[in-house]
Amino acid sequence: MPLSHPSTASLVTVTTQFKKCPQHSDEKLKFFCETHDVACCVACTVLLHNQHNQCTVVYIPDAAKDYKTGPEYLQLTGELNKTQQLAAKHVTDIEEKMKKVEQLKTEETTKLEKYRAELKEFVDKRIDELTSQVHQLRDNDMDLLKNQHTKSKNIEDNVATTKTRLKGCEQTPVELFTESMRTRHEVAQLQVDLADIAAKTKLQVYSVRKDDQMEAVLKNKAGIATIDLETGKKWRRCQDW
Ligand SMILES: [Zn+2]
Ligand SMILES: [Zn+2]
Repeated sequence: MPLSHPSTASLVTVTTQFKKCPQHSDEKLKFFCETHDVACCVACTVLLHNQHNQCTVVYIPDAAKDYKTGPEYLQLTGELNKTQQLAAKHVTDIEEKMKKVEQLKTEETTKLEKYRAELKEFVDKRIDELTSQVHQLRDNDMDLLKNQHTKSKNIEDNVATTKTRLKGCEQTPVELFTESMRTRHEVAQLQVDLADIAAKTKLQVYSVRKDDQMEAVLKNKAGIATIDLETGKKWRRCQDW
């Protein structure tokens, strides 16, 4: 293919495409410093983007001429395609992760709800057991007291009867004496019985004592359960990208 010289028409078109230099308003940005990635005018080139500053400057009309079909543009479009594909892969991958984030939340909150139910069941069961123990203690104590109450009442009645009987003998000395002798032993036995009742009816006091360890677990912020972040595994797939 013969080297084509740009026609006058295309040169004019190219020339009108240049912008004015912001530093030097009478000059146009016809150069490009590859070192600083900046367009510059002839003045800029001489003053700033020169060999002293180790700049590589190209003249834009020359560089632009066959750029479209050259290897640099091909390389650039190749890189753009690659970057676009990579970004698309990231988009898909992040969308997958968003689904997993939702899924993980659902799984772990389900676990928590199940655990809540387990704890509640455990606590309810234990409290019910303890409550029934308290009821049992009450029943036992009540049975014993009622029993001793009846015995005491009987003794009281017994003594009242004996007193009446003795009173009735007071006018007959012999009878009073023999009745009194008999009653003496009876009274001694009744006093032994009353001492036994007193011993048996000592009040059995009890109280519910909360478990210290359980209290500590409940008050501890890390009690019940904690959430472990598996930092080592977090977004590991990012490294595969
Ligand atoms: Zn300039
Ligand atoms: Zn430069």
